[in-house]
Amino acid sequence: MELNTVLTPQILIVEDELLIAQNLSRKLQKLGYSVVGIVSSGDAAISAVLEKNPDLVLMDIVIKGDMDGIRTAEIIYKEYGVPVIYITAYADDTTLQRAEQTGSYGYILKPFNERALHATIKLALNKHHQQIEILQLLRTAEEFSQKLKSTIKTTALKLGGPSSHILASDLSVALEREELQVYYQPLISFRTRQIVGAEALLRWQNPIRGTISPTTFIPIAEETGMIYAIGDWVLQEACTQVQSWQEKFSMPLKIAVNVSAQQFNQENLIEKIIKTVANTRLKAECLELELTENLLVNDSDQLIETIDHLKKAGIRLSIDDFGTGYSSLGYLRRFSFDSLKIDRSFVQDITTTPDKIAITKAILQMAHHLNLSVIAEGVETEAEFEFLNQHRCHLAQGFLFSPPVTATEFEDFLQENRCFV
Ligand code: C2E
Ligand code: MG
Ligand code: MG
Repeated sequence: MELNTVLTPQILIVEDELLIAQNLSRKLQKLGYSVVGIVSSGDAAISAVLEKNPDLVLMDIVIKGDMDGIRTAEIIYKEYGVPVIYITAYADDTTLQRAEQTGSYGYILKPFNERALHATIKLALNKHHQQIEILQLLRTAEEFSQKLKSTIKTTALKLGGPSSHILASDLSVALEREELQVYYQPLISFRTRQIVGAEALLRWQNPIRGTISPTTFIPIAEETGMIYAIGDWVLQEACTQVQSWQEKFSMPLKIAVNVSAQQFNQENLIEKIIKTVANTRLKAECLELELTENLLVNDSDQLIETIDHLKKAGIRLSIDDFGTGYSSLGYLRRFSFDSLKIDRSFVQDITTTPDKIAITKAILQMAHHLNLSVIAEGVETEAEFEFLNQHRCHLAQGFLFSPPVTATEFEDFLQENRCFV
């Protein structure tokens, strides 16, 4: 997925009307581009991409053969990373919608106007270049956080603790014994410095072992299938609570709830979520489900369908721990998320570590580009807050304002109408 290093951008034309293709080729050469080939079918286009490694493909939507231009463009962009601009005489809404989903870099209408041609190509190449840079930064981010995770794991193993099957048996009764509790951590607006919502975070108070961290018991709940019952309960509890605060304080608070990959694979997940939202009388747009990137590795039809359904129901979706897992720009475009949460590991020491500065700036830049709102996790110092504010981050969450607290403590914040920082 690297741009050719030569200065003249190399363009492949996919167009089944030879005269149009030749006319386009002449105009491109006049504008200073190099045309590496003219082909007329999807199969020929893919072979030419492999053979000639162009910087850009100009693709007619209606072409000869089994694959139309949109399907061919999808393969060329998603599998070979070469950007595609469509060339088309006209397009109906369905075709345009299909074309948009392939992550195209724009359209050029026939007959070709040289200035429009030049401007669209230039923009597409710039945008692609920027995305490659961002992707490279995200890869660095990923490696960085994998290293961090393995250090944490080794330390945890050294420290020891109760074995997971003992915890699993305790956890199986924790819900009915009311040992689980939902805590709320404030989400703060950079603009107003006030609470605009909360993330629901589980706590387990075991009578013998004391407080057990969700990072210890959630994986056990996932392995044993207990996450379904626990997840349903958290959602019900959090929606009920936030709806009651909205009414009491007449404010449109949002509530973010974590959803594990296992939960997402349940058949009746959509019905359950929609029902909970309706029963608790919470407005759908006030609920934001937090998913992790790893869930999106498998972009099965079922996953796409589930996400579409939830979006249609008005529920918001965000990517949690962004930058720590499988980071792909493709899925961000494909799944139409509403926001992303920059992982705590990037926010920490953000003002002094050049790598983190570059990564975080790139994430914010990309998010603005994709119209995503950005939440910074783990903001602990004023310097971190200021840095993120300067780079147009939207919401912040972290110990600088408050750790996750009980519902009663959170209600006190609302009562005081507390302004943070
Ligand atoms: P997460 O969703 O990324 O939640 C953010 C975590 O960062 C929370 O840890 C929160 O307490 C912590 N945090 C927030 N601000 C700061 C800060 O300034 N400094 C530091 N050091 N930490 C901060 P917590 O509550 O231990 O939760 C850990 C993870 O457990 C969550 O990460 C989430 O993945 C999972 N989890 C928690 N509750 C649930 C739940 O109801 N369902 C599911 N599926 N997972 C949950
Ligand atoms: Mg979360
Ligand atoms: Mg997180």
